[in-house]
Amino acid sequence: MKSIKNFLTVFFFGLCTPAMLFAQQEAGIKIVRGASDTVYSSKITIVGVAAPQSIITVNGTSVKQYKTGSFGTEVSLNEGLNTIEIKALSPSGEYTKSIKTFYKSGFQPAKPALNSYYPGRVLVTKQGAYLNYGAGKDRLGGAKINFLDEGIRMAVIDSVENLYKVRLSESRYAYIPKEYATFTQFGTTPPKSLTGSWSVSPVGKVDVVRIGLEERLPYIVREELEPSRIVLDIFGAECNTNWITQYTNLSAIEYVDLNQVDGDILRVVIKLKDKYSWGYKVAYSGNSLTVSVKKSPVPELKNLVIGLDAGHGGSASGAVSPSGLIEKELNLSMVYILKEELEKRGAKVVLSRSEDKDVSMAERKEIFEKENIDLLISVHCNAGGNPLNPLGTSTYYKHIEYRDLAETILKRLLEMDINSFGLVGNFNFSVNAPTNYPSVLVETMFLSSLPDEEKMADPEFRRDLMKRVVKGLEDYLAKVKKSIK
Ligand SMILES: [Zn+2]
Repeated sequence: MKSIKNFLTVFFFGLCTPAMLFAQQEAGIKIVRGASDTVYSSKITIVGVAAPQSIITVNGTSVKQYKTGSFGTEVSLNEGLNTIEIKALSPSGEYTKSIKTFYKSGFQPAKPALNSYYPGRVLVTKQGAYLNYGAGKDRLGGAKINFLDEGIRMAVIDSVENLYKVRLSESRYAYIPKEYATFTQFGTTPPKSLTGSWSVSPVGKVDVVRIGLEERLPYIVREELEPSRIVLDIFGAECNTNWITQYTNLSAIEYVDLNQVDGDILRVVIKLKDKYSWGYKVAYSGNSLTVSVKKSPVPELKNLVIGLDAGHGGSASGAVSPSGLIEKELNLSMVYILKEELEKRGAKVVLSRSEDKDVSMAERKEIFEKENIDLLISVHCNAGGNPLNPLGTSTYYKHIEYRDLAETILKRLLEMDINSFGLVGNFNFSVNAPTNYPSVLVETMFLSSLPDEEKMADPEFRRDLMKRVVKGLEDYLAKVKKSIK
């Protein structure tokens, strides 16, 4: 953008053309979307912004302008070069802008291919490692299974771009990002272990299941509902356990059971006492695999520490709306409304950022883990989809046990006169990935949607949204309370 401006300045000074007129045209219409050199579909959506209360036409057809000044429309293209003329008749004058776009049909993006082989190679996990189901990817990364502790060895069977394909058992494999693994020396074998002694005991705010192993083995863990239970598959384990000591003064865990489901897969089932889960964590302590399950707190805001996460910040602006609303700023302002409303009700609040600064996903999770939060709400604005349609609000969860939380909040949000973009599950958002505490992502509205943008530009609307998030949270806590026997 800068280089074009410099070029034009030089050009016009050189020719002594009336620079004023041109500057007005530059300032009059800003094209936010659709100004691509080459496209591969026969329709493009043009989004722009001009002074509010202008009369906008695109290729001679009039187009609605929103209060924010934003406008947009869909334009059909012919094969080859297309010129799109945009005009704005505003109180301060008439402006025009033209876009040249080349439409090329029949384009197919290339697919990633499997490449080399790694006979006999074994890797070991680093801190922060996690497993993916497959080699697919999108802007959030491939679909994640769960985090893995460090120091876990696995046989490498293939490599796809930035992932190693690893063997978990005879019949099961997964993928791990290369940055979270290093190769062991040639001749190192994948781990195998008989299970040793087990215990299940209360330790402070958690009940802990401890499984003695000879080596650190890979595992896959998930929570199931109705009944609520944590199911942990340990790969390369053979059961040699003849009893499990289970203390009777447990608060979160009802019982623990085990089952050798395959020659090299040991399944551990941890039945929970309560219907609603408050989180759990799997980690190694030496070679003992531990599952810490959080006891249910009294489900009232005055007893809870709520983590609030304002998306983006600093150099990461997040989405920017056509008229220039910046997501990171809206997120922070909405988090402060949540903070005020929650503190009024006696809750303690922990923020992942309290000002406009860069905070990485890892840092956010560290802050929440260190502060031992009971529940997390992350606030973002959405973007994408058709900018001409109202897309609305949505809530997201990663783990099935937190679906009810996301759904309950969404129900309250939808009492407003806005569209539902839906309840989205298994969402691969890093801040929702920890299993330590219930978490929900609220994607308030679409900044890229012109009708949504118009609503989000109103501070009263944003306050109303956040008050409903708090109401939804209170509804959820009431449900939890009712379910406790
Ligand atoms: Zn965002």
